[in-house]
Amino acid sequence: MNTMEKFNKNVMQSYGRYPLVIEKGEGVRCNDENGKLYIDFGSGIGVNSLGFCDEKWADAVCSQVRSVQHTSNYYYTAVQAEFAEKLCKISGYDSVFFCNSGAEANECAIKTARKYSFDKYGKNRHNIITLVNSFHGRTMATLSATGQDVFHNYFFPFLDGFVNVTANDTDDFKAKADGSVCAVMLEYVQGEGGVNVLEKDFVNAIYEICAERDILVIADEVQTGAGRTGKFLAGEHFGKKADITTMAKGIAGGIPMGACLVNEKCSGVLVAGTHGSTFGGNPIACAGGNVVIDRLSEAGFMEEIQEKSRYINEKLKERSEVVSVSGLGLMIGIKLRTKNASDVVKKALEKGLLLLTAKDKIRLLPPLTISYGELEEGLKILIEILEE
Ligand SMILES: *Cc1c(COP(=O)(O)O)cnc(C)c1O
Repeated sequence: MNTMEKFNKNVMQSYGRYPLVIEKGEGVRCNDENGKLYIDFGSGIGVNSLGFCDEKWADAVCSQVRSVQHTSNYYYTAVQAEFAEKLCKISGYDSVFFCNSGAEANECAIKTARKYSFDKYGKNRHNIITLVNSFHGRTMATLSATGQDVFHNYFFPFLDGFVNVTANDTDDFKAKADGSVCAVMLEYVQGEGGVNVLEKDFVNAIYEICAERDILVIADEVQTGAGRTGKFLAGEHFGKKADITTMAKGIAGGIPMGACLVNEKCSGVLVAGTHGSTFGGNPIACAGGNVVIDRLSEAGFMEEIQEKSRYINEKLKERSEVVSVSGLGLMIGIKLRTKNASDVVKKALEKGLLLLTAKDKIRLLPPLTISYGELEEGLKILIEILEE
């Protein structure tokens, strides 16, 4: 049996997979079992932020594996302390809870918001506003939070207490942000929802209304965080800092890691016994995370991301097949005029380029370390397909 046959016989068929077995990667490139090379414009959905097997990252991870690979959270490790300090410092947050995924980070945010409100106001102020077209994860609570009807099937009953507001509709938000609401959860750039950047006026209005009514703002930066948009957090583009920010995907460069960051207001909410995670803050993940933050902190690194973003925009926007290019930094959505996005992804795969989709758009989430030469090479393949 070959790899794909073995895989499909034994792994649940919960994904539509492309016929590619990735064998080895280095930087922006990887190869399949037959040695065919690919340029990666997806980073495993924005996870391999430094590309495949970055030298320093791999050294830090391997050396951690050989000293302490895990301890329970009843003990301390220096590597988790170092990562927590780095993360709080670069993000400006007060404290962090570590878990292992984006959905788990959002679960922590939801629990924090509800308990903050319960402690202060008692019961019945538990509703959380989320936006239409959002995506917050696959657990029961985060599916319930996700503002897309396609996700609200089969698994009934979903959790109560989520209210949807249309993105960029301030009046809708104002009307629904009543006395039953403890928090609003938003993505500054909706990733899975189609790489849609929220309007500044809408974000400003949310923060203003929330401040008036002591409603917490939760920013789901699982996809946008860790430098993806050319700032450490996408909120910086809006001049905003949420009460709670969640991160995952790219934060540890390819090792499962989720983080729920809170400001001073929420720092004391989750006391001993109210939340936990066996694997949360795993030393190997923290060792990877330390290298990611160090790299993002290097002089000019973030500016370079924005520069690369402009380069991609320039290359794409004059194409007749491209209706529009959306997104921020190296999180880019391409709306096509006549072609079907998933057909383009399949053709690109044949030609040695890995792409993603988001709704009906092509989505690019290349490694943040990609060079201009590599960008040009990948874009050439993409443009050829678009102009066929
Ligand atoms: C990917 C994603 C999640 C879910 O993260 P998992 O690690 O798959 O649980 C949540 N929110 C956003 C915005 C995401 O992009």
